[in-house]
Amino acid sequence: MKNEMPQLPYPANGLEPVISAETLEFHFGKHLQTYVTNLANLTKDTAYAQKDIEEIVKAAPDGGVFNNAGQVLNHVLYFLQFTTPGRGGMPDEKLDGLIRRDFGSLDNLKQKMEEAAITLFGSGWAWLSLDAEGKLQITQEGNAGNPLRRHCKPLLCIDVWEHAYYIDYRNRRADYVKRLWDIVDWQVVSNRL
Ligand code: MN
Repeated sequence: MKNEMPQLPYPANGLEPVISAETLEFHFGKHLQTYVTNLANLTKDTAYAQKDIEEIVKAAPDGGVFNNAGQVLNHVLYFLQFTTPGRGGMPDEKLDGLIRRDFGSLDNLKQKMEEAAITLFGSGWAWLSLDAEGKLQITQEGNAGNPLRRHCKPLLCIDVWEHAYYIDYRNRRADYVKRLWDIVDWQVVSNRL
């Protein structure tokens, strides 16, 4: 992935009522744009400028380059995993098999992911990823954290920085987290496997 703004597969109001057009305007249009701009400025005329975002996230030391690259990657994965409410379908056969094996059921996976997102202290992300042994795992990552940093493949994420939900849900993080399932596009998540 290059350091640029992605094309969204839905219109600005396409995720309503789960995520409003106003939240999208700020979260996608301003927050993500700022991370893209900051990363471009920080990596200009350095060896990082030629690298893919994933490579920077894996290799950069803690600090500004990693923080901005992590947030670019996290937000692109976040925004591209959604679709219009009710259109998200179900995990494909392969992902469904892994979910049953590692969590028992999709409902159980959702509950564990909600817990991770709701109990994360401060700013960060809840992640579903595939570890090096091929097992699904749910983790909490602070700030710009991404499972790639631990050699795991990122599949699905929940942004719990306050900017992700404060316009629509104010302080009710749990309400935001539980509503997100209505817009998760399981085909996109399955394809990331
Ligand atoms: Mn965010």
